[in-house]
Amino acid sequence: MKTMTCKQLYGPCDALIHGATAEEMMENSKKHAMEMVAKGDKVHIDAMEVMKNQHMNMNPEAVKQWMEKFHADFATQPKD
Ligand SMILES: [Zn+2]
Repeated sequence: MKTMTCKQLYGPCDALIHGATAEEMMENSKKHAMEMVAKGDKVHIDAMEVMKNQHMNMNPEAVKQWMEKFHADFATQPKD
């Protein structure tokens, strides 16, 4: 199991996100963001809007680079 912060996953806060694999980490970070948005957390709502807008402008190459960076960050993260 590894732990990263919401910020390390391009989120806006310091909440700790756990995951055994990069995919699980990504899934849990999404869940965390959705929960915060559901609670009406303005910081996460704004971050999600920015993310959405960026994704619309993102070409497949940029998305691929994002994924590669995330996987590299996850790989260098020490295990709990
Ligand atoms: Zn967060």
